[in-house]
Amino acid sequence: MEVERMKSQKNHTREVVVVGGGVAGMQAAIRLAEQGVRVTLIEKKHELGGHIRSWYHLFPSFTPAQEVYDALHERFASHDIELITSAEATEINPTSVTLADGRVLHTKAVIIATGFEIFDARRKEEYGYGLYDHVYTSADLELLLHEGEAGEGLAGALGFTPRRIALLHCVGSRDEKVCQPHCSKVCCITGVKQAIELKKRFPDAEIFNFYMDIRMFGPGYEEMYREAQQKYNIHFIRGRISEASPTFDGRLQIKAEDTLTGRPLRMSVDMFVLLIGMQAGPNFGLPHADSGFLEPQDLFLGNVVAPAQAGTLGGLFYAGTVSAPKAIGESLNEGIAAADAAAAYIKQK
Ligand SMILES: Cc1cc2nc3c(=O)[nH]c(=O)nc-3n(C[C@H](O)[C@H](O)[C@H](O)COP(=O)(O)OP(=O)(O)OC[C@H]3O[C@@H](n4cnc5c(N)ncnc54)[C@H](O)[C@@H]3O)c2cc1C
Ligand code: SF4
Repeated sequence: MEVERMKSQKNHTREVVVVGGGVAGMQAAIRLAEQGVRVTLIEKKHELGGHIRSWYHLFPSFTPAQEVYDALHERFASHDIELITSAEATEINPTSVTLADGRVLHTKAVIIATGFEIFDARRKEEYGYGLYDHVYTSADLELLLHEGEAGEGLAGALGFTPRRIALLHCVGSRDEKVCQPHCSKVCCITGVKQAIELKKRFPDAEIFNFYMDIRMFGPGYEEMYREAQQKYNIHFIRGRISEASPTFDGRLQIKAEDTLTGRPLRMSVDMFVLLIGMQAGPNFGLPHADSGFLEPQDLFLGNVVAPAQAGTLGGLFYAGTVSAPKAIGESLNEGIAAADAAAAYIKQK
């Protein structure tokens, strides 16, 4: 295990352990340190940041994800926070966290900020991910946009210039067949953002977003959706794609039904982007919804607190996407809320 930074705290009792160093966990640790609480952050990967490290430009403002990460990391690094990376928590209790190497960290409270996992698109075999060329996930596209910026543009990263592109919403979300009943909340707006990114790079391409419902829940999202249609001429089709198959000329044929007109539809495309959902990670034996995301005490005044039936008398808190799909702003806010709740808890104790 690599211990990156263990400043003056090495021999002290830990007050709060934050598990997970994505944006929610980093924000929680910063907030605790600002209040003078001795905080330890453990992260299973070798670096901080979680999923945001893979994203290119963020909805709804097109701010580079790197810029947001750098600013957060600068604040993190300016505080006395014990950071343990390459350390995976396998067991979590309010007074201890056990790591994969058997080490046990004793503490007075724990904030769980272990985030989400991305849905494995290979589970939806009918869309051909991993089987056919030119099928990508939204996460792949973020990496390709990075690669394109660093090299010879997106066409260079793809190895071709697409003339027609389809994006499919709700892949691995709202789908009982793959046990993912929930809406992943961020993929509709990600689909709009990515369609615009694609149109900016391939102005001559026709772009089609296939959706069940369009859910624009945040500030500026509806405006971006309208702009995608009016300024960028992106086509939104209410319909479900049933399958994709390769054609003899190296393209993909998709079969769908336009559920507004009731007509079946076939279309050849050069690029097929699957807007994958957010899937729950391990639940550590804690109460969780059918979707697998951890259930908080209540959805109003206790949304960052573990429920009493978690077998504890308090001391366990949740921040970010571990309890439901959320955008970055919401995850950061929960980092603050969970830190304040944990600080109040250990003071009262
Ligand atoms: C394709 C896609 C694009 C997106 N684009 C945007 C966007 O443009 N704008 C926006 O606002 N939101 C976007 N989001 C949502 C955004 O990614 C999340 O809101 C954000 O990453 C949540 O942060 P988090 O800290 O809760 O979780 P995560 O980012 O998942 O971080 C969790 C951390 O915990 C660590 N961890 C997990 N388990 C353990 C363990 N057992 N022990 C120790 N560490 C552990 C992980 O390694 C990780 O570093 C997007 C999501 C997707 C799927
Ligand atoms: S946000 Fe949109 S694409 Fe994502 S699961 Fe919900 S409805 Fe489907």
